[in-house]
Amino acid sequence: MEVMADALILVVEDNEDIREFIEESLLSPAGYQVHSVKHGIQAVEYLEQHDPDLVITDYHMPQLNGLELLQRIQQRTPGLPVIMMSSERSELLVVEAMRSGAADFLIKPFDQDTLMRAVQSVLEGEPSFPETQTRPSSESGRRVRELETLIRIGRTVTEVLDLDETLMRVVEAAVQLTDAEEGSLLLLDAEGGDLYMRASKNFDEDFVKTFRLRVRDSLAGQVIETGKPILLDEGSPQKIKTAYLVHSLIYVPLRARGKIIGVLGVDNRKAGRLLEQHDVAVMTALADYAAIAIDNAQLFQASEEERSKLETILAQTENGVIVVDEDNRVVMINSSAERIFGVRGDYEGLSAAEVFDHERLLEFLRFDQHGSYKDELELEDGRVFNVVRSPIRNIGQAVVLHDITHFKELDRIKSEFVTTVSHDLRSPLTAILGYIELIEQAGPLNEAQTGFVERVLMSVEQITALVTNLLDLGRIESGLDTSKEQADLAKLAHYALDGLRSTARTSKVELQVQIADALPAVYGDPVRLRQMISNLLDNAIKYTPEGGRVVLVTEAEDDQVILQVSDTGPGIPASDQPYLFDKFFRASNVPRDLAGTGLGLSIVKSIVEQHQGRIWVDSQIGEGTKFTVVLPAISG
Ligand code: ADP
Repeated sequence: MEVMADALILVVEDNEDIREFIEESLLSPAGYQVHSVKHGIQAVEYLEQHDPDLVITDYHMPQLNGLELLQRIQQRTPGLPVIMMSSERSELLVVEAMRSGAADFLIKPFDQDTLMRAVQSVLEGEPSFPETQTRPSSESGRRVRELETLIRIGRTVTEVLDLDETLMRVVEAAVQLTDAEEGSLLLLDAEGGDLYMRASKNFDEDFVKTFRLRVRDSLAGQVIETGKPILLDEGSPQKIKTAYLVHSLIYVPLRARGKIIGVLGVDNRKAGRLLEQHDVAVMTALADYAAIAIDNAQLFQASEEERSKLETILAQTENGVIVVDEDNRVVMINSSAERIFGVRGDYEGLSAAEVFDHERLLEFLRFDQHGSYKDELELEDGRVFNVVRSPIRNIGQAVVLHDITHFKELDRIKSEFVTTVSHDLRSPLTAILGYIELIEQAGPLNEAQTGFVERVLMSVEQITALVTNLLDLGRIESGLDTSKEQADLAKLAHYALDGLRSTARTSKVELQVQIADALPAVYGDPVRLRQMISNLLDNAIKYTPEGGRVVLVTEAEDDQVILQVSDTGPGIPASDQPYLFDKFFRASNVPRDLAGTGLGLSIVKSIVEQHQGRIWVDSQIGEGTKFTVVLPAISG
């Protein structure tokens, strides 16, 4: 094709003879416009003013070498093709030039056809080296073959997981590219004292099986110890210690993560082609690939072992474990979870809904909020599970089920017992209170008697409070006594405050209120909600010393109503905070003589939970306490 015959070509070459030859004998007669410069800097200057169609540059030049020039051209005018020439027989340089975007690489000396063909095909935009199949010069033809093989092996390393196959290909490629008779890949055994043959080409099978080489006194061992390749090229047969006669030989080290793990070798026993330094470079590239493949395989094996260990643990744990991916497809169900839900089989690719028909469980698995979540799950047969759902990065989420049926049953029995006992205690208490009132009516009491009666009264009141609280708790926990309706939390907060104003006054604690006017309604039991607010306020007033302040805030946020009770009291030790809502728990900093049952906050928590809300505490010793309750608002 003549399309580009008048194309402008910039030739960069410091050798005058070659420059003239290229310009005057080759390119100009073929009709190309040519501009020649002596070195890279001149080329850069020329390119600032002109816009050639192609650059042919030498590699070895003073100041700016061909590779640096190529990189500058790639930055400034990325589309401008560059053909690189070099007498350097370095595999690395070829690879580097191609990586940097050279359109072709010619090895000097080349004949005129080679150059003209390269120029023509680059200008016509034909696929560039290394896909070009035929090369007229045998030297560059060999380079092409080498590069193609290296690229192919490189792909094998990343694509093929079968280590045997990859290593065999590496050894075959080594034999082929160096025209050697035999090839072998030797690896250090576990103790590191011996080398064995992991892959080979043209060796007798029995020989391979029995082959062992001591690192200490072998040539291959020397490569392991020094980390340097060995090239025997004298051409006269030599006896390798404890091995066999060779005519010429190359051993290069296999390096994985900085450690030498073996050697890659080729040799010629008969005269054959004499191996040379260039072959060492090719073998080194191949050895790198082999080392990567071995390393990958070892990593893969290690992760497989970890995986199977984990699988065994998961299979044997009594807890049910279900893992789903981000699209809610089942990743794993352990055998306990299979037993719990009565499922079995191949879940690969199925969605959670296709495997399980338990609506609540599906809800858990679907739950698309971030962070962990805990709750209880009851099955139709009465079994109860504690369910924890946790996100797993890059996978999806896991749900772990722990059978708590037994504890639930114990809890129920205990609650029933407490309720019965409290009930039975109530009547005698009422009787005692009645008789105390009668004592006063029966006749005047002296001072000491009045004092005793007052003490009895206080103690009875305390027991009554305890019994009432226990009964309340039993009722709230059973969830039976609630009658839910649209409730106005602002109004309930005002009622609760009114009930406690005189207590606050007596305790000399200031009450501050910030209740938002238009709070959305919540769906709940007004009596219980008021009890919850009262308990929190009551505690705040009770624990805050004289002169302190208690603040009640209610506000709406998104579709929630938030209620906060804060005080300037003594605070709660951090180590006590996790148990604060447990029954009968009182923090370690409560003065002994301060009355209380340790049930107020358990009641609060039960009420909040019965209303699908959340409660938490923020407190620091000496800096007061803040309880926050969040309840879902009725939408719309
Ligand atoms: P109690 O009858 O002891 O007040 P609660 O269940 O209401 O029982 O509270 C449990 C414990 O939590 C209390 O004993 C106290 O140690 C701590 N507590 C509750 N509210 C406050 C508060 N506002 N300031 C400091 N400590 C508090």
